[in-house]
Amino acid sequence: MGELLPIIQLGDPILRQKATLVENVSDERIQKLIDDLMATVAQANGVGIAAPQVAQSYRLFIVASRPNPRYPNAPEMEPTAMINPKIIASSTEIVKGWEGCLSIPGIRGLVPRFQAIEVEYTDRNGKLQKQEFTDFVARIFQHEYDHLDGIVFLDKLESTLDMVTEQEYQKRVINNT
Ligand code: ZN
Repeated sequence: MGELLPIIQLGDPILRQKATLVENVSDERIQKLIDDLMATVAQANGVGIAAPQVAQSYRLFIVASRPNPRYPNAPEMEPTAMINPKIIASSTEIVKGWEGCLSIPGIRGLVPRFQAIEVEYTDRNGKLQKQEFTDFVARIFQHEYDHLDGIVFLDKLESTLDMVTEQEYQKRVINNT
């Protein structure tokens, strides 16, 4: 099992850096980082976490969609490490949906994202994977992918009017869906 890592917060310059490619997936430190990220995202009720969020500026993230108190309607999937990910193609359709971020506690935003994407990444066994994601999982992928380029969801808002506090989100959005 992985160890819990501290999650850095907005304002830490590491979150704004472009992360570097992972050269050797089988490296012990990378494998341990994956285990630690999986443990950390589960404990924090996240649905995804990127390595830069634990101050490790590598192009690697975990997508771990599952219903939890922060995202009660999230679809269930096996937590997956995605290394050196790429978006190969995207839908013309853009959809707005609510996002939060473990590095930006207390704020939610209505973020426009591609409804569907075709992606490529290396898995933790070093195998190249090609997949298509839609809706919420596509949203998680795009959110985490942005972290690798130093971008956070606040940068993608169309308007600051699309931003609410966690408390109002819980009251108005979760309880009305
Ligand atoms: Zn985030």
